Amino acid sequence: MTKLTVIAGPTAVGKGTVVRYILEHHPEVKLSISATTREPRPGELDGVHYHFVSDAQFDEMIKKGELLEYAVVHKKHKYGTPRNPVEEAIANNQQIILEIDLQGARLVKKAMPEANLIFIAPPSWEELGRRLAERGTESPEQIAVRLETAKEELAAQAEFDHVVVNEDVAKCAQDVLDLMQA
Ligand code: 5GP
Repeated sequence: MTKLTVIAGPTAVGKGTVVRYILEHHPEVKLSISATTREPRPGELDGVHYHFVSDAQFDEMIKKGELLEYAVVHKKHKYGTPRNPVEEAIANNQQIILEIDLQGARLVKKAMPEANLIFIAPPSWEELGRRLAERGTESPEQIAVRLETAKEELAAQAEFDHVVVNEDVAKCAQDVLDLMQA
């Protein structure tokens, strides 16, 4: 059974909600906490949602080889997966999920071909735009950039091992769990 599951998909598709649902119902599954140079959103906690670091700290992590993969996402901030927790989880035979972007997913597959890559897709393009606007956390300019990235990401779904449509959170989470345990 593959221990490493990479979950990617366009902005506002509901990846975070699906992942939270999985963790709530399966506390034995671990989630990789990424490092990022972006500012925390209201309610986000350092060390819980992300490790919020400065640009210099992030570059230091790269230099020391502490990141399994990293990428500049939405043309702005750096995001990366700390290597140690992933290697530890695999060594301890624990399931671990990485919720990262398309570039990161490609890099992980290259570094660890046994990784299971799952793409979460929206029911439709229109629905994706609606969910993003509804979230209300991004400015119109940020929304435009995110939709541009989303177009590129949707075009790459064939590179993934599996595609799961997020119509309903519980159903999507179960589909992902089934794939993790297959
Ligand atoms: P957000 O700023 O909305 O939390 O995340 C923006 C994007 O960064 C999402 O697509 C998310 O999957 C991606 N992301 C989060 N952590 C990582 C990471 O460690 N590596 C990469 N490559 N992307 C990440």
